[in-house]
Amino acid sequence: MAGRILVVDDIATNRIVMKVRLAEACYEVLQAEDGRAALDIAQRERPDLILLDMMMADMDGVEVCRRLRADPETADIPIIVITASRQSDHKMRALAAGADEFLPKPLDELTLLARVRSLLRARETAQELALRDSTRRALGFAEAAEIFARPGTAALISGQREQALSWKTALKGRVQTGLTVMTRTQALALPETSASPDLFVIAADLDRPGVGLRLLTDLRARAATRHAAIMIVVTEGDHQTAAMALDLGATDLIAAPFDPQEMALRLEAQIQRKHQADRLRASVKDGLRMAVTDPLTGLFNRRYALPHLRQIVSRATETERPFAVMLLDIDRFKTVNDRHGHAAGDVVLQQIAQQIAANLRPVDMIARIGGEEFLIVLPETAPGLASRTAERLRQQIGATPVLLPGGIGSLVISVSIGLALCDPGAEGCNDIDAILSRADAALYRAKSNGRNKVTISPSAA
Ligand code: GH3
Ligand code: MG
Ligand code: MG
Repeated sequence: MAGRILVVDDIATNRIVMKVRLAEACYEVLQAEDGRAALDIAQRERPDLILLDMMMADMDGVEVCRRLRADPETADIPIIVITASRQSDHKMRALAAGADEFLPKPLDELTLLARVRSLLRARETAQELALRDSTRRALGFAEAAEIFARPGTAALISGQREQALSWKTALKGRVQTGLTVMTRTQALALPETSASPDLFVIAADLDRPGVGLRLLTDLRARAATRHAAIMIVVTEGDHQTAAMALDLGATDLIAAPFDPQEMALRLEAQIQRKHQADRLRASVKDGLRMAVTDPLTGLFNRRYALPHLRQIVSRATETERPFAVMLLDIDRFKTVNDRHGHAAGDVVLQQIAQQIAANLRPVDMIARIGGEEFLIVLPETAPGLASRTAERLRQQIGATPVLLPGGIGSLVISVSIGLALCDPGAEGCNDIDAILSRADAALYRAKSNGRNKVTISPSAA
């Protein structure tokens, strides 16, 4: 995974040393010699990550950080602040200004590169989601409603319950997040259905050294916790474990013993990022659903129906089991619109759609493929059952008056159905055009024979 990294440092030697290290790891390196140049280059070149020196002559690193975050063009670029200072307030200021990580000099190369990999990986996921979301919007699907920042939940897991409790006490009053002390076993038993914690804070060494990392990979492998943020608490100076945790999918690290304020800042940043990813995932999923759904009735649309029918046909060829296809058209629907208005017509469409769905099996596919025309596919269905189903549907709809909106009464609606019975192998049963035109011809006959009828096209055509 290559990436472009902007190195910002006012001392040329530092930049060169860093460039050599990063180039060895196959990253492309851009350089800036002060804060102003850093902002310019970040805007122009959109690097994938920024390594930022804390102390510079023209502008300090915290200020650069703040400005990068304030500009929508650069707000998402991961930032690692690097400094020789050990002062804890520098670290807090950098994290509060939006830095993702703060590393002291002399730099531990192992930790640095693992951090870089982990931040680049997270950025790639975020960009992929954002891309899919913009495709969704380009297709004309509505903007997802902006969700208010909601407080998240975090599970605290340590080998000793007292330690996890002490973390909780230290964080109390500093974060909005709901905190729960949990054991490893409880974390692994979280069911997929319940809302599991947004963040897990896990001691690297639980009852035995390294067991925290095992828990990390286990959580990543489970559906309920796959997308959770995971922060690993490592012993100060244990670079090996820190690097391994990041490579195994930890989204953040904190060195113990930690300053509660640092923990609070990291924890809230992790939760915020997790929520943002959740929102994107939900909107992408929603977009996919909307792309194949008819907004008026909630049924599938033509875009979904035709490929689905193609699949049913090819599966039937394998299983050699019969199936059936119906075209259902509302009778004299135009007069509903003419007499009662378009809004009433819409209500009729919705209620007929509901009646169709209520009368079929979950495996049957129902789509609205035209104004008042529905396509229904009954997989693995013998001719007798298909005919009875179509007839029952016609009778049910005719016997259930549709209630019109605004209390203007109710309306008896009838439908005509063309049913194509399909026996794999028989002529006119193996390609969807032939099947649909048989169903269409049957529907036409039902209409010309007086409507409110089922007409069958048998498979041995
Ligand atoms: P037939 O019995 O021969 O099927 O007659 P019909 O009136 O149902 O058929 P026709 O195709 O002449 O008219 C269909 C009408 O459906 C015309 C159109 O205005 C109406 N329509 C199509 N889509 C919608 C919709 O989304 N909402 C409403 N309210 N009406 C629609
Ligand atoms: Mg009609
Ligand atoms: Mg029609």
